[in-house]
Amino acid sequence: MEKKNIDWANLGFGYIKTDYRYVSNFKEGAWDAGVITEDDKVVLSECAGVLQYAQTCFEGLKAYTTEDGKIVCFRPDLNADRMVDSAKRLEMPVFPKERFIDAVVQVVKANAAFVPPYGSGATLYIRPYMFGSNPVIGVKPADEYQFRILTTPVGPYFKGGAKPITIKVSDFDRAAPHGTGHIKAGLNYAMSLHAIVTAHEEGFAENMYLDAATRTKVEETGGANFIFVTKDNKVVTPKSDSILPSITRRSLIYVAKEYLGLEVEEREVFFDEVKDFAECGLCGTAAVVSPVGKIVDHGKEICFPAGMEKMGPTTQKLYDTLTGIQMGRIEAPEGWIKVIE
Ligand SMILES: *Cc1c(COP(=O)(O)O)cnc(C)c1O
Repeated sequence: MEKKNIDWANLGFGYIKTDYRYVSNFKEGAWDAGVITEDDKVVLSECAGVLQYAQTCFEGLKAYTTEDGKIVCFRPDLNADRMVDSAKRLEMPVFPKERFIDAVVQVVKANAAFVPPYGSGATLYIRPYMFGSNPVIGVKPADEYQFRILTTPVGPYFKGGAKPITIKVSDFDRAAPHGTGHIKAGLNYAMSLHAIVTAHEEGFAENMYLDAATRTKVEETGGANFIFVTKDNKVVTPKSDSILPSITRRSLIYVAKEYLGLEVEEREVFFDEVKDFAECGLCGTAAVVSPVGKIVDHGKEICFPAGMEKMGPTTQKLYDTLTGIQMGRIEAPEGWIKVIE
């Protein structure tokens, strides 16, 4: 199959339309068979549930080419499970796990010409999403839904090496206790836009959100979980019911324990202890790990020892091992790599 003529290494993170997408509709209590289509337009009633009450959730994963030339994606079963949880919490019908994985395979196969070659650093970003599609004006869940998967090629997250970022402790909250912080709902992002735009205006790359109830514990950023490394080389990651269970973070924790033999603590992390950590990183599908060099809390700076030029040594090992597993250079735990073709 001939690849599209794209300058993979210089791609950014913007939407580029690919040839095919997957669509399935839920009507009268059942999902239809689903199709791969070239039609990138969604036509909806002006009163569609998603437009009135934001009944929508999504997922994000990547397809890429491994060292031996296979097109694969990373742990799509966990994205399927998480979308089940998101749908249930938003009173949406569940798109079955096996069908989710099959739809990912179909849409990536159809767009194989857009899957970047090994070594380019680029990937095909896969965005499954679901929304209430029929008219809803009284507040209630929609009766009809659309599940879609779009794909778009994205460039290497770090061009010219992973430079540590500076983040701020936000005065806004991301998620309420017993709210929707643990699911991938569009609404969590809509209300975080003001906070991230404000942070960017002030010169920060990201927000560190604290727990809304006590504002003493570390939660996450708008779209990535935290991992910390202690001075005696333990990996620590915040545990909270209101953070989104990152697949990257869960994979890194496994890698820390099983590949690197590190001690791992998944527990509440108080903001007061952050100054004592040796390393800090943000984890999510897009970057795998973004190193944090500095955290600013209302003018008070916490600077991590690795500085602003490179990742801390343990973060680097975690990053190298997980990306090695993803790219097929290091043997993966069973079931982590889904071969598409
Ligand atoms: C998607 C997301 C993450 C990262 O999850 P991955 O599965 O690792 O991509 C972290 N936090 C939030 C709020 C997210 O929406």
